[in-house]
Amino acid sequence: MRAKENLSNKCSVALFLMMLSFSIHAIAQDFGRLREKMVSDQLVKRGVKSKPVLDAMRKVERHKFVPTNIISEAYNDSPLPIGEGQTISQPYIVAFMTEILSLKPTDRVLEIGTGSGYQAAILAELCNEVYTIEIAEILGLRADSLLGILGYKNISVRVGDGYLGWPEAAPFDAIIVTCSPSRVPQPLQDQLKEGGRMIIPVGEAYTQELVLITKENGKLKRQNRLPVLFVPMRDGKGKRY
Ligand code: SAH
Repeated sequence: MRAKENLSNKCSVALFLMMLSFSIHAIAQDFGRLREKMVSDQLVKRGVKSKPVLDAMRKVERHKFVPTNIISEAYNDSPLPIGEGQTISQPYIVAFMTEILSLKPTDRVLEIGTGSGYQAAILAELCNEVYTIEIAEILGLRADSLLGILGYKNISVRVGDGYLGWPEAAPFDAIIVTCSPSRVPQPLQDQLKEGGRMIIPVGEAYTQELVLITKENGKLKRQNRLPVLFVPMRDGKGKRY
């Protein structure tokens, strides 16, 4: 009698585990399909062409970077809240900003505004080293631990004020700023390598322009590329730069 009960218990456990692994597999496949659709409908249709960028957007699992209660919205065509009043950018904006940096596999890149860590993961697929700074401690620590769990060895996360850049690791081949100051921080201009590219949303709190900055013969060249709306770049006291 007892032996039979044991056997049926074991069978139910095995059945439960089998069903669980089937549903996890099905969910993973669903997310894979959603990612593919995100790439074709939101990125390719709007003109993103770089194959390495599209491949990185296909590969990085955006749903792992959003809070679990909105996981089903991870591949929507919009920014999403990530806590602390901050957002993970719309997939198109992530791809647009990444493509414009024309990254090479040997490049070292600085990101200001780690947030969820998603943009850092995309960059890490395309270049040699990523340095990323987040001012909100809870977000910085969370992103650092997630990126570690996901196996990224070429991303360094620092909690601090990104306005100052990361002088010890400078100069950088590329700089990407994902929070908006009213003008381009001088330390970031100084930390850009000769021939380097910076993409940064500059402007007022509710009207900003994504500006591409290139450094040629020590001089900065600015080109306005796209009107956008980013969260403000703030100092340690919460005041907008
Ligand atoms: N790149 C992020 C999105 C960032 S949202 C992602 O992929 O999820 C912008 C982030 O910039 C917020 O997390 C905000 O806390 C951070 N931020 C604002 N001012 C900052 C500063 N001075 N230095 C570093 N990070 C800053």
